[in-house]
Amino acid sequence: MKTLPPVDVVIIGGGWTGLLMAKELGTRTSLSIAVLERGKPRETADYSATMDELDYAIRLHMMQDPAQETVTFRHNLTQRALPLREHGSFLPGTGVGGAGEHWNGQFPRFLPDCFELLTKTTERYGAKRLPADHAVQDWGVTYDELESHYTRAEQLLGISGKAGNIRGKKIDGGNIFEGWRSAEYPTPPIKMPYFSAMYRDAAKTLGYHPYPYPAATLSEPYTNPDGISRTACFYCGFCDRFGCMVGAKGQPTNVLLPVIQTRKSVAIRTASWVRRIVHEEAGSGRKVRGVTYVDATGEEVFQPAELVFLATWTLNNTRLLLLSGIGEPYNPETGKGTVGRNLTHQVCFAGAITFFEKPLNRFMGSGAAGMCVSDFDGDSFDHSELPFLRGGNLLAYSFGYRPMTSFGVVPQAVKARWGSEWKKAAIDAYDRTASVVFNGEHLAYKGNYMDLDPTYKDHFGDPLLRLTIDWRDNERKMAEFVTPKAVELARAMGAKDITPFAGYGSYDATRYQTTHVQGGTIMGGSPERSVINPYLQHWQTPNLFVLGASAFPQNASANPTPTLLALAYRAVDAIVDRYLKNPAALA
Ligand SMILES: Cc1cc2nc3c(=O)[nH]c(=O)nc-3n(C[C@H](O)[C@H](O)[C@H](O)COP(=O)(O)OP(=O)(O)OC[C@H]3O[C@@H](n4cnc5c(N)ncnc54)[C@H](O)[C@@H]3O)c2cc1C
Repeated sequence: MKTLPPVDVVIIGGGWTGLLMAKELGTRTSLSIAVLERGKPRETADYSATMDELDYAIRLHMMQDPAQETVTFRHNLTQRALPLREHGSFLPGTGVGGAGEHWNGQFPRFLPDCFELLTKTTERYGAKRLPADHAVQDWGVTYDELESHYTRAEQLLGISGKAGNIRGKKIDGGNIFEGWRSAEYPTPPIKMPYFSAMYRDAAKTLGYHPYPYPAATLSEPYTNPDGISRTACFYCGFCDRFGCMVGAKGQPTNVLLPVIQTRKSVAIRTASWVRRIVHEEAGSGRKVRGVTYVDATGEEVFQPAELVFLATWTLNNTRLLLLSGIGEPYNPETGKGTVGRNLTHQVCFAGAITFFEKPLNRFMGSGAAGMCVSDFDGDSFDHSELPFLRGGNLLAYSFGYRPMTSFGVVPQAVKARWGSEWKKAAIDAYDRTASVVFNGEHLAYKGNYMDLDPTYKDHFGDPLLRLTIDWRDNERKMAEFVTPKAVELARAMGAKDITPFAGYGSYDATRYQTTHVQGGTIMGGSPERSVINPYLQHWQTPNLFVLGASAFPQNASANPTPTLLALAYRAVDAIVDRYLKNPAALA
């Protein structure tokens, strides 16, 4: 194996978190930095005139290739896990920018109590209210400590929205249930397409508090604090699964890459697939020496480094720690070990599929266009008499209806599943159907976790990651509670036909839900129950930091990217201000 000249910093993964770290360290220090990204290079120009739905949305051009690397899946310990040979319930990205290139751009913060979920839930309802097999934990960081970093992330992307709580002052038209904010959003809310506007009006008549969902798809031209300018969105509807052809959707390649490219100290090496983090015992702990990766020629090389950031997204972060033998793998039977524990996946389903008389003009939209009702989020409502804890958001999105991905939804009364009757109904319904969607919290459980599969391997011959995950009664009862609320909202909108959510059975790995998968390398206040400290630093290996949603002890109802960027900002401040002066444990 060839050994390369050493660098100060290796960042594994060139997505949202990896490139944010590269930009921050590249502009604030003189460290030499190598970003190792397994996929291709990318820039905004690649997306002009490439809105090919078949290629991007069906053949999933921008995602990890499951023929090279996938995961195995089972519901519980008694089952044998099988590999997912096609993408299903989530879509891991690959290439420069990672999943941040083909994301939707929805940018909500987590509720303050999410960060202290164990403490707050126990205080309000008593420890016995948590499910017997829960693994819920506090994060070791509070919302107040993160607030300024959320603001930085919003300014980086120019988020379009309406504040509902500025320093405790509730503001009509924004999310009055959100945590306090120090500032209004950088840009005003985006335009609301017809379906979302109808939802807003209906929600108001029912006494709810609808607000425009915060969006990284700009409502107006914006220049961020780094001097990066982007244009406004024109609602073409090609956001999720696509890169933005005009750069209106904030993506790592249009907000981070242009700054990184001005720094000679940062090199992005594409087609560089990291296989191991190399480490050795050092005193009472461990020290990372660098990483091994397979380069573009197929040769395996060793890249020595003083500081390593693991930023390869939730599942890859967990797998690379397990493959590298860093930390004790979690054992659900003994409760011992930390790596792999607390796997969660955002609760997400269409609470009510609606059908209208009038066309909805759904060809126009954007990945974050939508009105949201948070009256049933978190602990915004009392759970004393309810058979579940926590909650989530009811949303009416207008993503932009695309023919291949969206065609084929028919009312319940249509029994045919193919043929002329079905075709007629599907054509009739095409621009008259849309959903009231629910995004909810997923508690952590002792039995939902990740480890290395004993049977199946990737194209290098390394064990695949095995997911063991299933829904529990808390999610099922939450779904039973919110589904009638979604139906009530749909009725108030004047829908002529409504299909309610049928309820949760077992976790379905084949149905796309969201790519909001969390856990595996969780953060916390003690090395016994977490992998990394509240600065995302590995407890036993101080020169290793792990970025991304693998740090989340459990899922919140909101989308993860604002929180994972805020955590990365907080970590880089501690690294620049303290660690680089004294390379030791930050907590
Ligand atoms: C269709 C879709 C829509 C989404 N919409 C939203 C949304 O609206 N709001 C929201 O908050 N979130 C959304 N997300 C999730 C969001 O994209 C992620 O939270 C975010 O990108 C995570 O950042 P990351 O840096 O952890 O991972 P990524 O951005 O995925 O980057 C990880 C990078 O690591 C690379 N990598 C992996 N393994 C290796 C290896 N062994 N060696 C080298 N490189 C490696 C990958 O190729 C990838 O480029 C969406 C995701 C998808 C797929």
